[in-house]
Parts: sequence; structure tokens; C-alpha cells
Amino acid sequence: MPPPNYLLSKTGFMKFEQCSKAFFLYRNFPYLRDKLDPEKQQRFKRGHEVGELAQHIFPGGTDVSKITGNSAEALLKTRELIEQKCPVIYEATFMHQGVLVMVDILCFENNSAQAYEVKSSLKVSEAYVKDACLQYFVLKNVLPQFEDLFLVTIDGSYELGDELDLKKLFRKRSMKEKAEANLDYFETRVKEAEDLIAQNITPQREIGPHCFKPYTCDFFGHCWQGKLSDQSVFSMPFVDKLKVFEWYNSGITTLPQLSESDFAKPWQHTILQCILNKKPFIDLDGIRQWMSRVKGKVLAMDMEVWNPAVPKLKGCKPFEQIPFLIGLYGEGYSHALFCEHHEDEREQLTRQFIAAVQGYDSIVVYDKTLEVAVLKDLMTRFPEMAEDLKSIQHKLFDLFELISKNHYYHPDFKNNLSLKTLSAVVLPEFSYGEVQSGLEALSVYDEFRQENNPIHKDLLKQHLNEYCLNDCRAVFELLGYFKSL
Ligand code: SF4
Repeated sequence: MPPPNYLLSKTGFMKFEQCSKAFFLYRNFPYLRDKLDPEKQQRFKRGHEVGELAQHIFPGGTDVSKITGNSAEALLKTRELIEQKCPVIYEATFMHQGVLVMVDILCFENNSAQAYEVKSSLKVSEAYVKDACLQYFVLKNVLPQFEDLFLVTIDGSYELGDELDLKKLFRKRSMKEKAEANLDYFETRVKEAEDLIAQNITPQREIGPHCFKPYTCDFFGHCWQGKLSDQSVFSMPFVDKLKVFEWYNSGITTLPQLSESDFAKPWQHTILQCILNKKPFIDLDGIRQWMSRVKGKVLAMDMEVWNPAVPKLKGCKPFEQIPFLIGLYGEGYSHALFCEHHEDEREQLTRQFIAAVQGYDSIVVYDKTLEVAVLKDLMTRFPEMAEDLKSIQHKLFDLFELISKNHYYHPDFKNNLSLKTLSAVVLPEFSYGEVQSGLEALSVYDEFRQENNPIHKDLLKQHLNEYCLNDCRAVFELLGYFKSL
């Protein structure tokens, strides 16, 4: 089977929209791409699962991608299925002017065809619309029966009842108006991409904010090589990225080139001095004042939440943040509250949590945004426990304030102010176990819920508890460190 003469895949076109160089590298030097980071891996996995689920809205279709992985065969197979009047086709493959697209779901009814592009997200982004309009452009030109293409996203207001209602879980929006208005745009852009391929010269595109929009570029590691050294302006913390690009484009590429007048706030210049002199910045008065509020019996806390795109527990909404693990660590005390959530076990977890923190005067966390959001949600959900939860919220102290309010900065933090970085720099003896990050914990929790082998299941639970308690211990030890200052 000869390969189809296609120039652009949907992914290639989206890269071209982000940056002509990214597109060129993607086509000619794909091996220069960065490895998939855990966040992207999870996004892909989620997209795949949601895409398969959406197929059930139009059941009984034929999945072209399960018949062949070869584009030329997929084109032929799609044509064959249409000729055989197959009413529903998944991953139907089409090509126009060298643009190859695979349509998530294609349905035929009364001799008219409707296409559906599924996204595992609540919002419709500009990138999604472009992606959908490109498919519309191709379908309009090659499929006479084509009527409309719908962008299918998850409806955030949906609440799971006794059973999953797919029609209510998903919402669809017609792309017809937008796509029709932009047919010329796609025609032109496809031609431009074609010209770029024909020239066969790597475009000289400088790094810029486009490297992060709409997604962090796959060739980030390649183009940014050497740009992120300790002395680079991109290592300057607490400064907006656009401002850093302003410096960079005006020829200020290293930190020693910066002067006080380049900063909006004087303390940013103090941080610069600390980086250049390789000495930590310590505002003892500020630390002392913050510390004076953390009184009595102290506990460090950390929460892990589970937020499936498709709700798994009755009464839950898509992407709802459901706490499944709360770690508590204090002087001679270490305890993890864990939920498998066979059904919604939040009520029981909240009761255990309230009981476990009773008798403590201060609860210290690192970046309290998540904890506060979860506590507020639990207050609404369980009004009978709202008073207890409110009093816990009043006892919360955020260790991150010492960093965000510039009472402490170490040059080795560079631009990364996460708890992991802080503990690695300030507590060099500190180490994490099997699970190393919150994202990893989330995927281990998914694995745990699906695991049937009790021994392996128990091991996964141990890893999760250990991870969460390590975060708590890091907070507790950092607190001790700041006290010692
Ligand atoms: S890293 Fe930036 S400049 Fe390099 S290819 Fe990607 S978007 Fe273009």
C-alpha cells in the first residue's frame, strides 16, 4: 500500500499555527521532540478515555483505527464504509489538499453526515475551535453529504445520578458558522505550510511567549538549550514572563545585565542581588512575625485530591476535587487518613479528619489554596460539620507565605518555589520514596482503584500514604528550620 501523499496532519497544522519552526521540526526532525512529561501523558490518557466513552452516544460504529494504523489504508477503509452505508464511523479518515484528518465520530442520517470532535475538557479553547474548523474545512471539500461538525466537551454542571447519562455529560456546539467564515483562512494557511515544506529551510524563529501558547512546545528542550542557565534572565523568579521576554528581546539576556531600574518593585532587585551573590535572603523580622502566629500544638498537613473528568461517585460533578488522602504529621505523631471511595466516603473522611486534628492549635500547610477549596466544599456539603471545618480553616497557616511574601529566598530555588525544591535545598538529607509528585500520586491512586490483587493494592496504598506523609514531614521540618533561624 503506497503511503498517502499528505503534507499535514491535524497535529502538524496545530504546530504550524503555534510556530512555523515547531511545524518544520515536527515534520523533518521528530526525534528532537521532548519526552512526554507526566502531565501531558495524563492529559492524553484522559482524552483517550473520554473519546471512547463519547462513542457510546452513537453506539455500534466501526472504528477505522482498530482496523488499520496505516493512513492510506484508513482512507480506503473509510471510503469503503461510506459506500457500504455504514451509519456510524469512528476515526473516519479523510484528506484534502494534503491535509489528513481523523474524525472522532462520523454519523450518517437521511443521507446527511454530522461529525463530532470530542475534547475531555469543560471549556472550549481557541485551539479546539481551530482544530475543529480544520476538520470542517477538509470534510466540506471531500464529503458531499457533510452537514456540520460539532465540538463535544464535558458539561461541568452535570451531576452523576444512579447511572451515567452520556447525553447529559457531554454538550455539543456547532462549528458551522465559525468554520464557514474561516474557510479562506485555512486554505491560505495550508498553502503557507506547503510552501514552507517546499523551501526545506528551518525557519529562524526566536523563542518567545508563543513557546508556551496554547501548549508548551514539544521542541522546548531543543530551542531553549542554554537559555535556562543559572545566569539567564529566565531564571529570575517573581517576575512576569512577558517582562522577562521584554528584557530578552532588548538584549538583556543575563542576570548581571539587570539593574534596579529594570524592576517594578525594590524587593525584586534584592532577590537579584541574592542570586548574583549566591547568598540566601533572610528577613528575620518577617519570619519571626509569621512564626509568632503559629502557636501551641502544631501539626503539618497535606491533602491529595482525585478529580476524574467523568464523575465516578454519585452526586459528583466532572473534575470535582475529591479528597482521598489527608496526611497529618506532628511531634511524635504521624497519621494518614485514606479513602478508596467505593462510594462517596467524604462524610466519613471529614469526621475522621475533624477528630484527628482536635487538640491541635495550628495546622501548617504549604500553599493552602487546595486545602481551603476542599474545606469550603466540605462545609457546603456537610453543614452539620461546617463549624468544626471553619475552625480548622482558622487554624491553617501557609508556610508558602514566607517565600511568596519574600521573607526567605535561597538562590538554589531559582524559579521553582515548590515544596519539593524547598525541601531539596533547605533539607538536603530529605528524600521522597516511590511516589515523587502529586501528579504521580494521582495516577497511582487510579491504579490502586483498578487493582484486584490485594497484595499489590496494599503496596500502592502504602506508597501513597508514604508520599503524603513525606510532604507533611517536609513542611514540619521546614517549619523547624525557619524557627531555628
Ligand atoms: S520552542 Fe518556541 S521557537 Fe522553538 S519550535 Fe517551539 S515554539 Fe518555536
